[in-house]
Amino acid sequence: MQDDNNAAGGTRPGVDLHSLSHGQLLSLLEELGQPKFRAKQIEEWIWEKNVSSFEQMSNLPKSLRAQLAERCSLGGVEEVARQVSADGSRKYLLRFPDRVSVECVGMPNRDRLAVCASSQAGCAMGCAFCATGAAGLTRSLTAGEIYEQVMHVRDDFGTRVTSVVLMGQGEPLMNYDATLAALRRLNSPEGAGIGARHLTVSTCGVIPMIKRFANEPEQFTLAVSLHSAVQRTRDMLMPGVRKYSLLHLYDIMSEYVDKTGRRPTYEYALIKGVNDSEEELASLCDFCRDNLAHVNLIKLNEVKGSKFRPTSDARAQEFVRRLKSVGVEATIRNSRGADIDAACGQLKQSIDRMA
Ligand code: SAH
Ligand code: SF4
Repeated sequence: MQDDNNAAGGTRPGVDLHSLSHGQLLSLLEELGQPKFRAKQIEEWIWEKNVSSFEQMSNLPKSLRAQLAERCSLGGVEEVARQVSADGSRKYLLRFPDRVSVECVGMPNRDRLAVCASSQAGCAMGCAFCATGAAGLTRSLTAGEIYEQVMHVRDDFGTRVTSVVLMGQGEPLMNYDATLAALRRLNSPEGAGIGARHLTVSTCGVIPMIKRFANEPEQFTLAVSLHSAVQRTRDMLMPGVRKYSLLHLYDIMSEYVDKTGRRPTYEYALIKGVNDSEEELASLCDFCRDNLAHVNLIKLNEVKGSKFRPTSDARAQEFVRRLKSVGVEATIRNSRGADIDAACGQLKQSIDRMA
């Protein structure tokens, strides 16, 4: 979690309890003259039960609840608006105490519940086809804020979350520490208890951070937004990662596979006349061949005001066929919640439209 200790060693007044490490919580309790076991009780309330007030922490003495309420806050997200899709997905607009808001989506499927969460409010990477990119970055989220989105969806559906993808707003690897801390909390049995392989980080390809991610001990899943294996096309589509060449990305991903033995996913949104040509397909096959890759072909979600259009179904099928013919696993991913603009790349702050 973020370090919200101040220089003197005590906690900042009004500090969000979610932002304290276990050690910091112990020091706070010591300061308040409380036994150590209270830390575990408090952690259960904030992480497992996701309570929104100190009053609800019923196994703590009233005096301690009052002290905590005086010294700390519980952060807290407020649901500003929601939309429900015909396929059962729910999109939420959630607002943090500083009035910054993000979107997240819950996608139920039989006995599973997948959550798509945001890692930043907005994004600085500026991809040409992405609604989030068009708006720029407002700020990065804290680990607690990433975690709370997932818990909000869990509580709304009233069922366990089985997987989380950080494919909402923002570039998670540009908010590395908070992202990792949130993933660890989601993974922990004392938190949401979601298996590491069911926790996915999606990145536009921030190479130094992929390197770091490969060295983490957990088996988190990595998805890389590729969108073109032709340098000039990718530079045009994804200006924020222009400084990292495809060759460099290829090398780092080979290293990632060697090191982790895990299969990375490449996201590829098919855009008519831009990245769906023969040259593009041949380059994609070359990039992914012998690389343990799984390619997720996505039909572009149209973004208002954008000149990009999705490719045809037949062309998408051809991409799958050709990738398979060179031994690369490929699937066409159906966007969930397309009717509510909840599909990937369409998340943007839209209070006006939703409220
Ligand atoms: N910043 C990260 C994660 C958030 S974007 C990333 O770029 O990977 C989540 C996914 O949605 C990415 O694969 C992104 O490329 C994709 N995406 C963005 N805009 C899209 C659009 N209009 N249609 C389809 N996919 C889109
Ligand atoms: Fe940011 Fe990802 Fe959108 Fe690119 S696709 S602008 S990296 S959120």
